Amino acid sequence: MNNENTVQELMELDKKHFLHPTSPISQQQENGASFIFTEGQGIYLTEMNGQKLIDGMSSLWNVNIGHGREELGEVAAAQMKKLAFSSCFATFSNEPAIRLAAKLAEIAPGNLSATFFTSGGSEANDTAYKLARHYWILKGQPNRQKIISRTKSYHGVSMGATSATGLKPFRDFNTSIAPDFHYAENFSTDSLLEVIEREGADTIAAFIAEPVQGAGGVHIAPEGYFKAVRRICDEHGILFITDEVITGFGRTGTYFGIEHYDVVPDMMCFAKGVTSGYAQLGGVMISETLHNEFAELSKGTLLHGYTYSGHPMACAVALKNLEIIEKENLIANSKQMGEVLLEGFKKLQQQHDIIGEVRTLGLIGAIEVVKDKQTNERFESPIVPQLVSEAAKRGLIFRSVVFDGQDTLVFAPPLVITPSEIDEMVNILDETFTAVGKNLVKV
Ligand code: PMP
Repeated sequence: MNNENTVQELMELDKKHFLHPTSPISQQQENGASFIFTEGQGIYLTEMNGQKLIDGMSSLWNVNIGHGREELGEVAAAQMKKLAFSSCFATFSNEPAIRLAAKLAEIAPGNLSATFFTSGGSEANDTAYKLARHYWILKGQPNRQKIISRTKSYHGVSMGATSATGLKPFRDFNTSIAPDFHYAENFSTDSLLEVIEREGADTIAAFIAEPVQGAGGVHIAPEGYFKAVRRICDEHGILFITDEVITGFGRTGTYFGIEHYDVVPDMMCFAKGVTSGYAQLGGVMISETLHNEFAELSKGTLLHGYTYSGHPMACAVALKNLEIIEKENLIANSKQMGEVLLEGFKKLQQQHDIIGEVRTLGLIGAIEVVKDKQTNERFESPIVPQLVSEAAKRGLIFRSVVFDGQDTLVFAPPLVITPSEIDEMVNILDETFTAVGKNLVKV
């Protein structure tokens, strides 16, 4: 579909009626939507004017098995025909939700064994905070209500998840945040200990962290950090929650990101890759220990539940998605292709003066843009937005991160990517850095 009239008509309707998530409104009002996508196949998206682009972000870090997988459409249609929806409140259940909960218990680290389903990551995080707080009430320690997160974290946009999000622009957007959220410095166990000491361990319910920080700029934890976090949480009786919304389901080259650090959390939030974006689903897994304690201590109803908790169609899609991830060895591919991508980034680093540090863990990665490689000094104003728009012209989309003085490109291509597709990505980046680099010299 590339009829000029249709494109124009949709652009106008978009401007007039569509309030976009996490988008600059004034830019949309002035220029319209940057792309109206119509089709996806593998690592590629096609937009209305016919341009084909590499989806270097798996859209929102979620289309792990790539676009256009008809098997998922077939499973969704079959489940919708059979039973599109039924409730899971009041102990009602359905087969896909039960089978998915059991499958998750099989693949999750350690003794994580029971799942509370949501429709996405923000709801999963809010659920984890509420379950943690409720747990301490049941345990007779109702003062343990505070949630500690980290300064560069992103946990979503519902009130609880925004409040736990350490990235300041997200919190500043709200006029107020929910009470009882506190922030430790990124990767600093000293800072975590300071927060615990300042607030008092007996007021803290849980600590939450992403195994690899995604939206904050793809920051990979240093060796030993999560082991120390687990020890500190245990010593102070604090529950440890991991947010695997981005890092789950093969993204980092293991099933879950925390596996790199040989640590098991008490609760684990997930979303995105569980269905590769083919249906809206998320959830929180809790350990068998917590599950048993809930079962033993809770006498009333668990007064938390979304209409779509355990949605049959979404759960059926997730089961098929996990089957594909396993059958096609996509976790091993993520690990291998992550190494190929890093080689590509290193080649670019040698060729372009403005590339500083590069890093990947599986198929999540970043390129730092610097004015001076020796000192890591940044440009006065971020360069990455120019790189994003120049790369898009050449057929590659990815994301820029400019919070907290960062000038960072981030990538998370579909786990089905091949070496030649990575070459294509790296070649486009090479041309993009050359084009933007030339303009910088002229300035
Ligand atoms: N946690 C993390 C680590 C995320 O990256 C995101 C979304 N990018 C969320 C939570 C929120 O998920 P959702 O947008 O599905 O609510």
